[in-house]
Amino acid sequence: MVQSIDPSLLSVLLFYTVVLSAVILSSAKLAGMVVLTHTRTQLIMSFVSGLMLGIAIFHLLPHAIYTIGTPAAVDIVAGWTMVGLLAMFLLLRVFHFHHHDLADDAHDAHCVEQPEQDSETGIGEHEDSKKSNLAWVGVAFGLTLHTMVDGVALAASMQADLLFMGEPTGFALLGIGVFLAILLHKPLDGLTISALMITAGTSAKARGLVLLVFALICPLTAAAVLWSLESIVDSSSLYVGSALAFSAGVFLCISLSDLLPEVHFHSHDRVKMTVVLLLGIGLALAISAVEPAHRHAPKPASMQSSLLYEH
Ligand SMILES: [Zn+2]
Ligand SMILES: [Zn+2]
Ligand SMILES: [Zn+2]
Repeated sequence: MVQSIDPSLLSVLLFYTVVLSAVILSSAKLAGMVVLTHTRTQLIMSFVSGLMLGIAIFHLLPHAIYTIGTPAAVDIVAGWTMVGLLAMFLLLRVFHFHHHDLADDAHDAHCVEQPEQDSETGIGEHEDSKKSNLAWVGVAFGLTLHTMVDGVALAASMQADLLFMGEPTGFALLGIGVFLAILLHKPLDGLTISALMITAGTSAKARGLVLLVFALICPLTAAAVLWSLESIVDSSSLYVGSALAFSAGVFLCISLSDLLPEVHFHSHDRVKMTVVLLLGIGLALAISAVEPAHRHAPKPASMQSSLLYEH
């Protein structure tokens, strides 16, 4: 018989779904009221990318290793991290969907030369507008895959937390670190979508609907992954750990792809941006304190385990 998702996982996932939807919709409203200048966008991005970077390195990687829990774990995790990183890198290379900074002043912030096609004849602009129909589809496709992969990361970290806890007692915030990273990152993706739709002349209502669907894809994918982990592959720690390592690679790629362009092309507000980046990384470290299970030390010998980290 097909198994259903563990009720404790399901209730947490429902809670996350409500919070994520509310945050995406209200941040879209907020973005309409506050002028998102280039510097403000970059400051938000630095903080959120710092959080994702910290979650990848301080949580997803160690969680993956401890979840697999065999001497081969480190090599398996290294392999899957590379797969995740490359997969997201190639997606970015093909679909160019992850450009959040759409402020009007993005290109004249003390910075670089204008992009080549803007100069002189404007021939490039024509090429751009010809391409833009296809570009829209690429961005939509890329962002959909991006939010689905986030769903995989969320499911894997929730399942890993559950595996570690054994029998959950009451409502535990399973996968809270990954959820927080997704929660704070998604409004940035939402900005990209809103900007595209505003350019296309859509109504605010239609934008809200698309954002809501976009928000729901993540937990729906998480539910599908949790279900298949329970009923198809039997939540083996090898699968869950590999999915965590894959997600670590994805988070590394996404956060650095958001951070690096600013480093390469601009030199304004460097101190502020570094401080918020460190704050984001600090938040990732602080999340260890509220994680439901003790994921960062070897299991005590009393618990049944195949862990070989204790000598
Ligand atoms: Zn952790
Ligand atoms: Zn994104
Ligand atoms: Zn800048």
